[in-house]
Amino acid sequence: MHEALEKWFGFSSLRPLQQEAIDAALLGRDALVVLPTGGGKSLCYQLPPLVLDRLTVVVSPLIALMQDQVDGLRLNGVPAAAAHGNLTPAERQQLRDLVESGELRILFVAPERLFREDFLRWLGARDVAAIAIDEAHCISQWGHDFRPEYRRLAELRERFPGVPVQAFTATATPRVRDDIRRQLALRDPVEIVGTFDRSELTYRVLPRQSLVDQVAEAIGRHRDAATIVYCISRKDTETLSTRLNARGIRAEPYHAGLPAEVRSRLSADFRAERLHVVCATVAFGMGIDRSDVRLVVHAAMPKSIEHYQQETGRAGRDGLPSECLLLYSGADAARWRLLIERAGAEGDQDPEVARAQLDLLYHMQRFAGRARCRHRTLSEYFGQDYPEPNCGACDVCLDELEQVPDGLVIAQKILSAIARTGQRFGQSYIVEVLRGSKSEKVRSRGHDRIPTFGLLREQTAMRLGNFIDQLIDDGVLVRTDGDYPVLQLNDGAKEVLRGEREVVLRTPKGDLAQRPRRRRRAGRDAGEPARELTSPEQERFERMRGLRRELAGELGVPPYVVFSDATLVELARQRPTTRAAMLAVKGVGPKKFESFGERFLTLLAE
Ligand code: ADP
Ligand code: ZN
Repeated sequence: MHEALEKWFGFSSLRPLQQEAIDAALLGRDALVVLPTGGGKSLCYQLPPLVLDRLTVVVSPLIALMQDQVDGLRLNGVPAAAAHGNLTPAERQQLRDLVESGELRILFVAPERLFREDFLRWLGARDVAAIAIDEAHCISQWGHDFRPEYRRLAELRERFPGVPVQAFTATATPRVRDDIRRQLALRDPVEIVGTFDRSELTYRVLPRQSLVDQVAEAIGRHRDAATIVYCISRKDTETLSTRLNARGIRAEPYHAGLPAEVRSRLSADFRAERLHVVCATVAFGMGIDRSDVRLVVHAAMPKSIEHYQQETGRAGRDGLPSECLLLYSGADAARWRLLIERAGAEGDQDPEVARAQLDLLYHMQRFAGRARCRHRTLSEYFGQDYPEPNCGACDVCLDELEQVPDGLVIAQKILSAIARTGQRFGQSYIVEVLRGSKSEKVRSRGHDRIPTFGLLREQTAMRLGNFIDQLIDDGVLVRTDGDYPVLQLNDGAKEVLRGEREVVLRTPKGDLAQRPRRRRRAGRDAGEPARELTSPEQERFERMRGLRRELAGELGVPPYVVFSDATLVELARQRPTTRAAMLAVKGVGPKKFESFGERFLTLLAE
């Protein structure tokens, strides 16, 4: 096994859970493997067929995703292929030959393809050592990414009796895990559940105050690094990228409404490092496997922690420190709630699914609204303890929020304005009253004569809106649902007004750009030095990135497929001068050395 690992992937060791998953596969056991994004799931199904010298079939939801893996594997010399509708007849024939001659080791296939009767019959007659189901959570309607075509995977048991099935996913709450186990009819599966915490990610949650400024500032902290900004709507992606471009930050919008050729050009540019900033809907990501994404911004709150974890999980897949910034406002939750209810009302959806979604949304809202360690909250959500008292990598633990000194008084003023205006108005109107607006609306109702009129005029409207969100999150104020949400008091609000309940309001401390960088944490793989690159190392890294881009261009593959950032960092540090020294670097195997080794050695010698 270790020989194969070194030979095909250039890795000297397996991560502990990879070892368990691979052992299970080598023993022909069923398995359920739950590892966070970046945890190294692919190796768990890629290595066993190379050790066993037999074929593994990998079911995967997206062609783009498969194709990248196939490109990467072939660069390592692994006989791998993907079966999908875009193959030419010649390619299809070649694939068939490779399988029939027993040379192919890894065959990727999308469920739609797999269940074509002719294909299934053909594959059923071949020697299949194992079936791996990637993104297995797609089978569950309790999950966040239900794909009806995954339901048919249950049939595999009958079609391939005796062939072990291994399911892989990055996001699974215990309920989804149960569902996977049951639907795939896993037989006494080995269960491997990794740590969900992504210690290399720094999480920040800020009230959305001035979106473009906040996004631009975050990008400024990660110059020339890959950034994904997730927006809820197509229109938002366009507006935001236009405004970023106006500030000299090159950004492109990406959403499912764009013509296919534009989308594929954008993903190709992003992967080839010709484009760094993409403002996207969730349509962007599943197929984008760039491992050096250093910043993921959510311009609005996603609708579940599963989505958040999956989208932020696209940062730092190479294990290097990266940032995740969530900009949220209470209005985001209202917007999602409306969408979910509408889908339910229009009968598009089973009411059970809508209920499950509202529940997922509630947890997301709690995550954003509370000032509680983000690493801890995420870990606990996925059913895991988080022992560290201070994670050193979230806005809360880094002490980036401060308590507003007179929070209780501000809260009382807000609640009182709501009470005095009859609990009939939405947030923006209440803010107008508190800030002393002389608008016709306010005057005509006589609200310029109530005692709270203009009492918080020194606060910006954005900040007041954020305080209102915090009060809602704290459970001392209610925003009704529906198209015209209004603010209403509850029992908690009454306690606050009577001074019987403490309220803490928080506000970010100010410019993050001027803050010292957080202390670096050790990387994922043991023994990785936990320090920043020195400036000559940084320069070598940048030069090698250039070479990598060039090679990737020549081969027509994404750059990270040539070498990952983590490998370039090690090369920059160790600066090998010989073949042996270069082969000792993680991620450099004999086949890759043969293809690119000399060019990197020459560059390093320079
Ligand atoms: P996942 O599919 O779980 O999101 P990947 O399989 O894409 O994760 O792996 C994430 C990164 O970790 C990749 O860059 C991969 O090359 C690297 N990696 C995986 N296993 C190892 C290992 N044993 N040693 C070093 N790096 C590894
Ligand atoms: Zn923390």
